[in-house]
Amino acid sequence: MRIAKRVEGLPPYLFAELDKRVAAKRAEGADVISLGVGDPDLPTPPHIVEALREAALDPSTHRYPSYYGMPELRRAIADYYDRRFGVTLDPETEVLPLIGSKEGIAHLATAFVDPGDRALVADPGYPVYGIGTILAGGEPVSLPLTAEHRFLPDFDAVDVPPSTKLLWIGYPSNPTAAVAEADTLERTVRFGADHDLLVCHDAAYAEITFDGYVAPSILQIPGAKHVAVEFGSLSKTYNMTGWRIGYVVGNAEAIRMLGVVKTNIDSGIFDAVQRAGIAALTGPQDHVEQMRAIYQKRRDLIVSALAEAGIDLEPPLGSIYVWVPAPAGRTSVDFAAELLDEAAVVVAPGTGYGPHGEGYIRISLSVPDDRLQEAATRLRERLR
Ligand code: PLP
Repeated sequence: MRIAKRVEGLPPYLFAELDKRVAAKRAEGADVISLGVGDPDLPTPPHIVEALREAALDPSTHRYPSYYGMPELRRAIADYYDRRFGVTLDPETEVLPLIGSKEGIAHLATAFVDPGDRALVADPGYPVYGIGTILAGGEPVSLPLTAEHRFLPDFDAVDVPPSTKLLWIGYPSNPTAAVAEADTLERTVRFGADHDLLVCHDAAYAEITFDGYVAPSILQIPGAKHVAVEFGSLSKTYNMTGWRIGYVVGNAEAIRMLGVVKTNIDSGIFDAVQRAGIAALTGPQDHVEQMRAIYQKRRDLIVSALAEAGIDLEPPLGSIYVWVPAPAGRTSVDFAAELLDEAAVVVAPGTGYGPHGEGYIRISLSVPDDRLQEAATRLRERLR
């Protein structure tokens, strides 16, 4: 059997070694707490589950869905943008539902990246930006995000190599938990326009924000629709990671091209899940506020445990993560392995998100309060 070079060329799965150690630790009988993955422990709100139940009982939902999503879902997404950001979207041409935003993020490169083409990708950033590029035969180019610049792009220092077609960023950020204000998004749009790049902004955590911070949309920037698309997800806002529903909005031509790729690969989202998505976007939103309060409390718990252990952090204003510098002299992987060995706490090594993640670990807040409390106690004791 001969494997395709584009698959052989994928970066090694950094968590494989850690996964083995976790399994070994559990086999020893240790009570391992995983703060590794970002997958909400909280349930999907009942009215959304009920909408799914009702829709699943209706046989008309059992057939192939429309390739482009139900018109009512596209309208619900457009209405959310209008309500939330004051951005007007044409539901016919500027909105495309996705089978989870990961699906669209990965497939976008198929529409834009030829072998030899490049994409600038947030480093550290959500790994799929680069993986999608590689699977399309292209080359990801690091867009370094450093603490010195608050993990925001320093466009003055960025060289755009030839054949670069895409630029990937996302705020609130996975993994750095950094947030962007409108001025950063404005510079990004200008940079994209100056270098003829399609700007791809990943807003998966736009609704998970703290201390009164409200995340902007890149589409609020004048002219953004000429150069940008924005990915969104129901996964984290409505605790629907398992349901697989997200969307992309913005530049009509980019969305049309992604639609061409998708009609040849998939057959859309189960109609019952789409109806549940409509219920999520158009129904009561009070649980979102409650969820923010829960994550904010968890963030405070971790930030204060780290402070007591001598690691001072500015409390992050968004996402479900805390990005923690490793003590001097430790690599990300060493530090993660040490926390597993000595505290039975799993964290994600920063290098899993790009070379500039070296020197950091990522803690996920998506575990129940009592387990997070226990993990915080162990971290405090281990690090002190
Ligand atoms: N974007 C970011 C930054 C993420 O962290 C994730 C998931 O963890 C996704 C996109 C994908 O989310 P989904 O495919 O569930 O919509």
